[in-house]
Amino acid sequence: MKKVKYFYNTNTLRYEKLVTPLRVKLLRVFSFLAAVSVAGFLFMQISYRYFPSANEQKLHKENNRLKDNYSILNEEIKRMNQSLREIEKRDNQVYRSIFEANPLPDSARAKMIEKQAEDRLIASLSEDELNTSIIQQINTLRNRLYAQTTSFTAIEGMVKNKEALLAATPAIQPVSNKELSRLASGFGYRIDPVYKTTKFHAGLDFAAPQGTPIYATADGTVTLAGNTGNGYGNHVVINHGYGYETLYGHMVRVKARNGQKIRRGEVIGWVGSTGKSTGPHLHYEVHKNGRDLDPIYFFYNDLSPEEFDRMLKIAATGNQSFD
Ligand SMILES: [Zn+2]
Repeated sequence: MKKVKYFYNTNTLRYEKLVTPLRVKLLRVFSFLAAVSVAGFLFMQISYRYFPSANEQKLHKENNRLKDNYSILNEEIKRMNQSLREIEKRDNQVYRSIFEANPLPDSARAKMIEKQAEDRLIASLSEDELNTSIIQQINTLRNRLYAQTTSFTAIEGMVKNKEALLAATPAIQPVSNKELSRLASGFGYRIDPVYKTTKFHAGLDFAAPQGTPIYATADGTVTLAGNTGNGYGNHVVINHGYGYETLYGHMVRVKARNGQKIRRGEVIGWVGSTGKSTGPHLHYEVHKNGRDLDPIYFFYNDLSPEEFDRMLKIAATGNQSFD
């Protein structure tokens, strides 16, 4: 039941009905609605804060899981960086030094940002930052991998060249000499067996029975095979390339033919005593760019360090050469 209010009108001296103006009524309604809205908003704020919805809890979990994944990914990238650093170190210190190439400077390996990225703590990063950090690290890694691949390709080329050079370098003894007893005279000034005066001996003499096989000491092409009357008797000259040439003298018989391609270890003739010689032996010379070298330094495929030491002592004996 609606309450009716009255008031005493002093002008009319009568009790009259109190009429509330529409303006006031509307104001009351709006005030009520505003109060309800504010209360509701505050209530929702408090309930959201202290009692998250199921959906929110799910998102929160998802968020944590993603952060964990980022950490794992970051750790993985760190490990990859470390492995790559090891490879780079080996590349510079081992391969590049073996092949006498300059180490790759770090700048070429695009190492610029990894350090700062590593030093950052995952926990303190927002997801966007995490993303940026990982993308940066992957970019660095990719640049460094590219640089490393390029370096290995270059080294591959060097290995191939080096293989050819090694095959062309005299590296074994020209006759079988397991006991090292066949080396009879060394390189340098020796007493000439015919003139009995001191003369330069441009090679090594290996004393061996007539018919002992003589081996090519490196790959190459035969440039001379036969007797030219120069004192070497039946002899063979092989051009190995890279400036290397070897000469084998005083053979009883020559097997190699002029122009023939020869592999290291192939038989090119047999020991004899033809030409200026005092007994069956092989006179062996190594030339580089036209100069005589001491062949003793070209047996490294054949000799252990101890054997090489013994050979050096034998060759140093100032005896008479066989020529
Ligand atoms: Zn000789």
